[in-house]
Amino acid sequence: MSKTALITGGSRGIGRVTAMRLINDGWAVAFTYNQSIDAALTFEQEATAKLGPNRPQIASYECDVRDHASNRKLVEIVRERFGSIDALINNAGIREDALLYNMREEQWNDVVDTDLSGVWSMTQAVVPLMMQQRGGAIVNVVSLSGLHGVVGQANYSAAKGGVIAMSRSIARELARSGIRVNCVAPGLVETDMTADLDPDVRKAMIREIPIRRIITPAEVAAAIAFLISDEASAITGQVLAVDGGTSA
Ligand code: NAP
Repeated sequence: MSKTALITGGSRGIGRVTAMRLINDGWAVAFTYNQSIDAALTFEQEATAKLGPNRPQIASYECDVRDHASNRKLVEIVRERFGSIDALINNAGIREDALLYNMREEQWNDVVDTDLSGVWSMTQAVVPLMMQQRGGAIVNVVSLSGLHGVVGQANYSAAKGGVIAMSRSIARELARSGIRVNCVAPGLVETDMTADLDPDVRKAMIREIPIRRIITPAEVAAAIAFLISDEASAITGQVLAVDGGTSA
């Protein structure tokens, strides 16, 4: 039977490409959406049609990662349908940039609630099941902003840096239960999240990337696929940058 991966924020961007990559690797995939119901259902139908009768399963679930009670419920529903959750990819995230003196309290709270507390909440909901199963792998999608200062991203950097620190702590806590916890830190990736960048800012950012190009979602998905695979069985508590050399 296929192992099951739960991916938060699989309706678009990195999460969606990761879902397809894992399906192609033989995983069954449960993914969540929050607002993009049409995109999620279309993706689920297209993936199902493409994969044929002996495919691993793929299914989408509505979920707001900020809602702790519904995260716990989601885990129960996925367990009932798929039988296990062997990998958790905490990918859902938002960005609401503003300079410190302009940042509204809601902008701080929205980003920290989603990008930091949401990761804690979903992880806490999934870990008891992984403990019962005596193993699992968790990958948290963070950002270079969690490693380096970025102007206008005090909220996002604090949230992503918090996830990195939390991941290192729980990697130690959960190692004895056979659960590995790692982070993937993408640089600038071509998704909706970066579509609103001013073209000149975008060009300037690309000039700062040693490989001189934007990262693709498939390149991030490949790193996630590696970290949840048995090939990475001795790797825990690490941050793998997928950034074209920016953090080197
Ligand atoms: P994206 O295209 O904007 O997609 C974001 C995903 O997160 C969507 O599926 C969205 O679901 C989901 N989401 C947002 N708020 C949510 C909530 N409260 N509850 C549940 N799901 C929620 O973004 P992306 O570029 O793929 O980013 C994915 C991850 O990579 C994020 O954690 C982001 O911080 C990180 N990252 C991205 C970049 C980049 O350059 N793109 C760089 C570094 C790190 P709905 O659409 O259904 O609402």
